[in-house]
Amino acid sequence: MTSTSSSGPREVRAARGTTLTARSWQTEAPLRMLMNNLDPEVAERPDDLVVYGGTGKAARDWNSFDAMVRTLTTLADDETMLVQSGRPVGVFRTHEWAPRVLIANSNLVGDWATWPEFRRLEHLGLTMYGQMTAGSWIYIGTQGIVQGTYETFAAVADRRFNGTLAGTLTLTAGCGGMGGAQPLAVTLNGGVCLIVDVDPQRLHRRVEHRYLDEVANDLDDAIARVLAAKAERRALSVGVVGNAATVFPELHRRGVEIDIVTDQTSAHDPLSYLPEDVDLADWHDYADKKPEEFTDRARASMAKHVEAMVAFMDDGAEVFDYGNSIRDEARQGGFDRAFAFPGFVPAYIRPLFCEGKGPFRWAALSGDPKDIAVTDEAILKLFKDDDRLQRWMRGARERIAFQGLPARICWLGYGERDKAGALFNDLVASGKVSAPIVIGRDHLDCGSVASPYRETESMLDGSDAIADWPLLNGLLATSSGATWVSLHHGGGVGIGRSMHAGQVSVADGTELAAQKLNRVLTNDPGMGVIRHVDAGYPEAIDVAEQRGVRIPMRP
Ligand code: NAD
Repeated sequence: MTSTSSSGPREVRAARGTTLTARSWQTEAPLRMLMNNLDPEVAERPDDLVVYGGTGKAARDWNSFDAMVRTLTTLADDETMLVQSGRPVGVFRTHEWAPRVLIANSNLVGDWATWPEFRRLEHLGLTMYGQMTAGSWIYIGTQGIVQGTYETFAAVADRRFNGTLAGTLTLTAGCGGMGGAQPLAVTLNGGVCLIVDVDPQRLHRRVEHRYLDEVANDLDDAIARVLAAKAERRALSVGVVGNAATVFPELHRRGVEIDIVTDQTSAHDPLSYLPEDVDLADWHDYADKKPEEFTDRARASMAKHVEAMVAFMDDGAEVFDYGNSIRDEARQGGFDRAFAFPGFVPAYIRPLFCEGKGPFRWAALSGDPKDIAVTDEAILKLFKDDDRLQRWMRGARERIAFQGLPARICWLGYGERDKAGALFNDLVASGKVSAPIVIGRDHLDCGSVASPYRETESMLDGSDAIADWPLLNGLLATSSGATWVSLHHGGGVGIGRSMHAGQVSVADGTELAAQKLNRVLTNDPGMGVIRHVDAGYPEAIDVAEQRGVRIPMRP
């Protein structure tokens, strides 16, 4: 059993600048990124080691955090540290091409993969919830999701509203680490957004970080503000404090004309969704003491919440599940039409996955925003004919506030990510940026996840729950030269519902890094292409044929 923590919470911030605190940049990078995940500017609840997504943690406890820092500081470039659910459990001699860190988070054997069993083991100190990029040390704050959210709302605009959200009103809830990207994504698409959160602090934090424009005094005030902006076709986002299970039905009852409805509360974990009639102040104590009763009440509230979403859909609104498993929770709460609306991946994102496109991201280990400005320019030049990317990169430069180490996200596909990687490595080698750049991605990617309520919902061949793909993805990243690789269970949608893999690679300007980056950043999106070819998607088959992806069953 894990020893109890003797060291406690403290403020953590990654080192900046070009002086190494570890033995090389290959180990300095995971060290800085682990610490960056817990930076108070980045993490939602750093004292509890919680980064985002309900209870997604970077380390199991503070003793484990200290042991990882100690180990990374002395780890050699032919050694590998093993991390089991946020706790370092061994160091082995490997070789230079091997990852410096291998991570497995939250994995449980099939029949045991339930929240109650997970929580029992968590209370014993034997596991932790790693979410996607929390336990794999490549969270970059709310920016990490904002482009995907922007792309999703752009696809909604294309499909239903002649390419713009101007003059439309979007209703959503959950203004946390990821959900906080929604208001900005809607306004970047020209629309009006009303976002509901039970916690006023979450709303004010997004105003501070410029993701949300304003917070209304109450629901009447919020409705007046958003309807005025909608009538004037003026982009605006307004937050309102309230419980979505109460506010959504109330808005429907009042007949407010809402065009698009979604939700990003932490519904995947019923203990992270506040039931109606429970005070914010009592939330965590109540959830800890009576998890089963709390779960039943949360699910009953989610049933009301989703019932209102379906009512908006019946009235003609565009409604989708935004990757938090709220439909399944509402179904368990007794609402039998919970799956009446689709998830966002089959609805809008899958065509991108067929091209190996996904959330490519990078961070400047120097901590210097000038380094990201240099990479922004380089990406704009490299992909000068891609209008959507140009629009996104220019908007991001102006509107996105950095959290922690300066970073950028930009969705790139097969044949693009490797070019960006080579370019960044050259920028480091030539001294145009002051220190190495880490390149990673979300686990929500084209070929790295099995998640039947999200990324692999409604696959063409019915292969939604096949979890061989993320395992192969993690093994391939390990074989290709990634700097750290992670295999997780339960991220995004909760325990029992997903398996996924991640990789992060370091562009340190060396020839060895150039070779590794070329392989990792070709093979990783290549998994997305072959996964969708295997499921029979014609778009993926075209990409594979045009770009020469080798697939033995299609000689
Ligand atoms: P978070 O825990 O940081 O934020 C959740 C927010 O929901 C909090 O601000 C909380 O106060 C609020 N909330 C809880 N119960 C509520 C209720 N009844 N009414 C109104 N507000 C309530 O989580 P996050 O990182 O923002 O992630 C949110 C969800 O989105 C998670 O389920 C996560 O797994 C999922 N997610 C989706 C994507 C995607 O691409 N779609 C990506 C990452 C995460």
